[in-house]
Amino acid sequence: MKRPNSKFLFSLTASATAIALPSCKEAQQEICQQPNIVYIMTDDHTAQMMSCYDKRYISTPNLDRIARDGVRFTNSFVANSLSGPSRACMLTGKHSSGNKFYDNSTCVFDGKQQTFPKLLQKAGYKTAIIGKWHLESLPTGFDHWEIIPGQGDYYNPSFITMQQDTITEQGYLTNLITDKSLKWIDEQGPNTPFCILIHHKAVHRNWLPELKYLNEYEDKTFPLPDNFYDEYEGREAAKSQEMHILKDMDLIYDNKALADGKNSRLKATYLNFIGRLSEEERKIYDATYDPITEEFYEQNLQGKDLAEWKYQRYMRDYAKVVKSLDDNVGRVLDYLEQKGLLENTLVVYTSDQGFYMGEHGWFDKRFMYEESMRTPLVMMLPEGYNHKGDIEQMVQNIDYAPTFLEMAGIEIPEDIHGESMVPLLKGEEPKEWRKSLYYHFYEYPAEHMVKRHYGVRTERYKLIHFYNDIDVWELYDLKEDPKEMHNLYGKAEYEPIVKELKAELLRLQEQYNNPVRFSTEKDR
Ligand code: CA
Repeated sequence: MKRPNSKFLFSLTASATAIALPSCKEAQQEICQQPNIVYIMTDDHTAQMMSCYDKRYISTPNLDRIARDGVRFTNSFVANSLSGPSRACMLTGKHSSGNKFYDNSTCVFDGKQQTFPKLLQKAGYKTAIIGKWHLESLPTGFDHWEIIPGQGDYYNPSFITMQQDTITEQGYLTNLITDKSLKWIDEQGPNTPFCILIHHKAVHRNWLPELKYLNEYEDKTFPLPDNFYDEYEGREAAKSQEMHILKDMDLIYDNKALADGKNSRLKATYLNFIGRLSEEERKIYDATYDPITEEFYEQNLQGKDLAEWKYQRYMRDYAKVVKSLDDNVGRVLDYLEQKGLLENTLVVYTSDQGFYMGEHGWFDKRFMYEESMRTPLVMMLPEGYNHKGDIEQMVQNIDYAPTFLEMAGIEIPEDIHGESMVPLLKGEEPKEWRKSLYYHFYEYPAEHMVKRHYGVRTERYKLIHFYNDIDVWELYDLKEDPKEMHNLYGKAEYEPIVKELKAELLRLQEQYNNPVRFSTEKDR
């Protein structure tokens, strides 16, 4: 599997004279040319539920292994906290304004546009994507792809193949995506660099666990976030969302409280999902949820008791789904280690965005607030990239494409919005690293009813403008108020900061060719 050493070229000198070196291990100075890229992206997996970021809830030993042996980004963000848009930003290295995939409900990804897998292909890489695609058009830029239709199914799922056949597999989706990914890697010859995107559906709603983990975490009581009962004072857009655990989480679809005579908005969808289980599998499934459901209806919980019951159900099921994910990340790492591939492979683990685990009383994402604008990002680096431990600079998912391109020795096209993280991976402290991030969420009106908004985040502050059918600004001091409970916009003492942030926001909108898409702006 391992490529010959001639692939590793001495590249630290400015003149790019190619000198074949004996091996990455024998000389510390060389850097792997054209490393393999194993990019694992999950869906809605938030840093609060990874023990290398947050030890309050669960343990994720395999994800922690990546952080321990590699790097952990402590300020990693997305540009638009939603599945399709986030994937488009990642593939193109551009904000939604550049790749034109603004939302999940109206957009189709233009597969003719430039993406990093296409550029890697041109440079001689073999490329593949297995798992969730969610961009409506079929994948382009891949030598091999096998995707799940739309959101896909956890149990005995279907895949769409390159021949555009739909096939149904037996098993649990997270395991199957890994099986298919390792099979493809195994088929690659030793002389060609490869890039595989392993895109899991997990941990997407509605959190259906692998059968062997149905009873995990059932004896665990998760602590409530201290702003679980947030009443959104001074935050108008937060009041009108529909992603509240008590109000909006579906008792049957989300909390699996299925019983005779009980109905809910998403009951039929839930029955379809678990209808994919065989009779035997369904017995195992019901053996876990039936007694919980029976007890739940007997108790007739109301108000806070009901909210906290739903929260515990949510946390437990989400944690079970992460457990399989962590196992499968471990399988990939073990495989790469056994094949001797770790030294010439970049391993990336990230998610398409963060998620609320009860903060502000919520599940879901979308808002520019910290929990969902952030996304976990840990990497194991190929030889020659010497950094270990934390990287604190602010990075965004538009930075992945230029990073992979630079690592592969490809010139970064000028129209890419992101910045290559290569200097950070080499342990450098670039003076000119970005000091602000741009964010724009467009999907409204739509499920969960989060208003359209855009904003700027600096290390200290965040300014957000909610627009469209509302015209509301919010300002947060992230140092004094990391949970974003106190909107400071309009307070006289913050006027100079607001003025500066608005100027920066306009600069970013110009830089990313994202003219303000609303008509209510008055104080620019
Ligand atoms: Ca997602």
